[in-house]
Amino acid sequence: MSGRLVLGVDIGGTKVAAGVVNEAGEILSKVRVPMIPNDSAATAMDCVHRAIEAGMQSTLHPIDAIGIASPGPLDPKRGVIINTPNLPCWRDFPLLAEIEERYRLPVQLDNDANAAGLAEAVWGAGRNFDSVFYVTIGTGIGTAIILDKRIYHGRTGAAAEGGHMSIDMHAPIACACGKHGCLESMASGPAIAARARAKLKSDPSSGILLRAMSGNGAITAAMVCDAAEAKDPVANLVLLEIAELLSVWLGNVIDLLEPEVIVVGGGVAAGLIPWLPKIADGLRRWTINTRANEIPLAPAKYGADSGIAGSAALCLSDRGARISESVSGAELS
Ligand SMILES: [Zn+2]
Repeated sequence: MSGRLVLGVDIGGTKVAAGVVNEAGEILSKVRVPMIPNDSAATAMDCVHRAIEAGMQSTLHPIDAIGIASPGPLDPKRGVIINTPNLPCWRDFPLLAEIEERYRLPVQLDNDANAAGLAEAVWGAGRNFDSVFYVTIGTGIGTAIILDKRIYHGRTGAAAEGGHMSIDMHAPIACACGKHGCLESMASGPAIAARARAKLKSDPSSGILLRAMSGNGAITAAMVCDAAEAKDPVANLVLLEIAELLSVWLGNVIDLLEPEVIVVGGGVAAGLIPWLPKIADGLRRWTINTRANEIPLAPAKYGADSGIAGSAALCLSDRGARISESVSGAELS
């Protein structure tokens, strides 16, 4: 097989997925093992090693590099997991060095949103653009800023936490981060479900379809999206509110960055795709940029595999090589 192959490793709170990815961004094979995040650092590493080894065995060809995507906060330059809430097993843990040492291959590490954004910029919906703003909407809201196919990290690697930009300082409920009015606390999957629950509770005769879908059990964001698609008025109202919040927030993003494209991914994104024109329309009221309507809002190419593709992109894009050089340069000096 010609071209380099990278093993992309996507670490989450419940699973580690690994996939073999070629230079065209195609995922050739993938495996998945359970993650044990609440035990020792070594137990969690065993899960990661099992995924890496199974991933390597899934191809007959040699792997040239390993890319790792993990929830943040982490230090992409030193390759250290700092204090990820979903991975209490690791505190200031040198994940990159552990993997490099064992497999004797080049390794790159970044947070999952940055990695997924890079994959979209290199191979996906942002591939024809030099500046890409990526947003992933799921359990949380993550973002990435990709300029000239390179992740913008900021001074310490903590840039592009766009989900924690506040759009309402008077919001009654605090975000998990402690701030009030973060987009994540108002428009993530759990926030969409909570809005629907509150509306159903306040009017017991409303949302017949949505109630039927849930079997009067737990309501999820996916159900709200499906019910809105089927014209349930409560679900529709919830998503109208979410679309408006996203317009307000993206208006700020455009006024700050004016990206060439905005790519929307994540577990909830599929259900929000029919709402993208509404969000784009709302933008007119929330940006001073008179040409904002020329900026496409594009659905992400990679869905559930965004972590595998993203972690692989860390190694296959120019950015990977540059970070390696700058880190080894820093070590030499
Ligand atoms: Zn927050």
